[in-house]
Amino acid sequence: MAKNTNDEQFKNVISHAKEYGFIFPSSEIYDGLSAVYDYGQLGAELKNNIKTYWWKAMVQMHENIVGIDAAIFMHPKVWKASGHVDGFNDPMIDNKDSKKRYRADQLLEDKIERYKKDGKTEKAEKLQQDMDDALKAENLPLLKTLIEEHEIACPVSGTRNWTEVRQFNLMFSTQFGAMAEGSEEVYLRPETAQGIFVNFLNVQKTGRMKIPFGIAQIGKAFRNEVIARQFIMRMREFEQMEMQFFVRPGEDAKWFKYWKEARLKWHQALGTDPEKYRYHDHVKLAHYANAATDIEFEFPFGFKEVEGIHSRTDFDLSQHQEYSGKKMQYFDAELNEEGKPYGNYIPYVIETSIGLDRMFLLTLINALEEEDLSEGDKQDSRTLLRLHPCLAPYKVAIFPLTKKDGLPEKAREIMNSLKLDFNCIYEEKDAIGKRYRRQDAIGTPFCLTIDHQTLEDNTVTIRHRDTMEQQRIEIKDLHYIIGNKVSWKNLLR
Ligand code: ATP
Repeated sequence: MAKNTNDEQFKNVISHAKEYGFIFPSSEIYDGLSAVYDYGQLGAELKNNIKTYWWKAMVQMHENIVGIDAAIFMHPKVWKASGHVDGFNDPMIDNKDSKKRYRADQLLEDKIERYKKDGKTEKAEKLQQDMDDALKAENLPLLKTLIEEHEIACPVSGTRNWTEVRQFNLMFSTQFGAMAEGSEEVYLRPETAQGIFVNFLNVQKTGRMKIPFGIAQIGKAFRNEVIARQFIMRMREFEQMEMQFFVRPGEDAKWFKYWKEARLKWHQALGTDPEKYRYHDHVKLAHYANAATDIEFEFPFGFKEVEGIHSRTDFDLSQHQEYSGKKMQYFDAELNEEGKPYGNYIPYVIETSIGLDRMFLLTLINALEEEDLSEGDKQDSRTLLRLHPCLAPYKVAIFPLTKKDGLPEKAREIMNSLKLDFNCIYEEKDAIGKRYRRQDAIGTPFCLTIDHQTLEDNTVTIRHRDTMEQQRIEIKDLHYIIGNKVSWKNLLR
């Protein structure tokens, strides 16, 4: 029952996103490209507003964090040093009958979930343990054995006719340079973090940054995901908002705790039900990390990672020092003054890494509701996108009551006085009630109606999205009322 409701909720979000111009499948007229999506006219606005919220919270609100915009292409050695060439793999397996490809660990995870649902807890725990051991030891034949032993069949063909398990590198590569001969293989970056690490000293020196300090970046990342599903949850081209915070060795645990808490607060400031969020602390850590946690959100398909906070030690900078032959050390004048012998060191790093598209999906899921407005026998409802006003694509919709009598001219005059500060939309088609409903569905916090009285006394009707309350107010007060509601102060205090 719950599952159906959740499935339905998710389907509604996907169709709403398409219907109102938030998200379209890429190259749709050619039947789309798997796990690639385009943001439409409203999607681009909402996405920009989420970026702005993150950038302001991370960069503008912290004197010791600065932002950069590094290139997507990087020297191929970067990915050798970072470990992505050798280690950024997923174990995959193909079904010979359906020709479908799966992630071996995902097939086993699904089986574990099924065991749990059927009350076979012991079996589930044993399989989990065996799978973890196999993954840790990169024992691919053992993964295949587990799939066979637990009689896992292909969901499409229903057969158990499997290939061997192979490692599949998730990085996209392409040829760099115009000539086939002499051109070089480069990768589309699978994460934005490395653009920050290689610029660590450039930024530190030119920005005269003192530890602890952070470098933030928003940008595209590319991963050739073996299985791409759940709409914009797992894409092959996506965007990340990452920040690397450079600290003294030994102070990493303190800063890890700080960022873990700070990042959850950032999410919760949007007013989301706190029950929908949880931490998932990693027990098994990547080779470079000494602590890691995910911030998970309860999507209609379960709790899933939206953001990772990782204590990455000095792994990345040390690797780049070794591979580039350039010193990646920081001279800590304060430590030196204290007479300690360790004025020069490679800083430790705390990373916060959030997927912009997952944050976008979360925001839509949270905001979309069908509000029951029935009164007595009269059935009524409205589709409402209860976005935080700071995130809403449009802040104000401007409606002349009719298309004549000078009302459109007056409406445009008001729009011109507001549009420098607030993103406005002008609508003169349809009855006012219908225009209100359309703005509710795209999350516009205010609608202004300009009528004949406006021409006489310079007042308009302002209608509030959430309460549907309407007030008559003077045009000169509009800036103040709207500005108060959509001010970033509401989120960034
Ligand atoms: P997952 O386990 O879900 O594959 P991950 O642990 O590989 O994610 P990270 O490498 O830590 O993810 O990336 C940081 C963030 O980038 C994630 O928390 C997620 O929000 C986002 N992200 C990662 N892969 C994708 C993807 N294929 N599509 C959309 N967002 C992604």
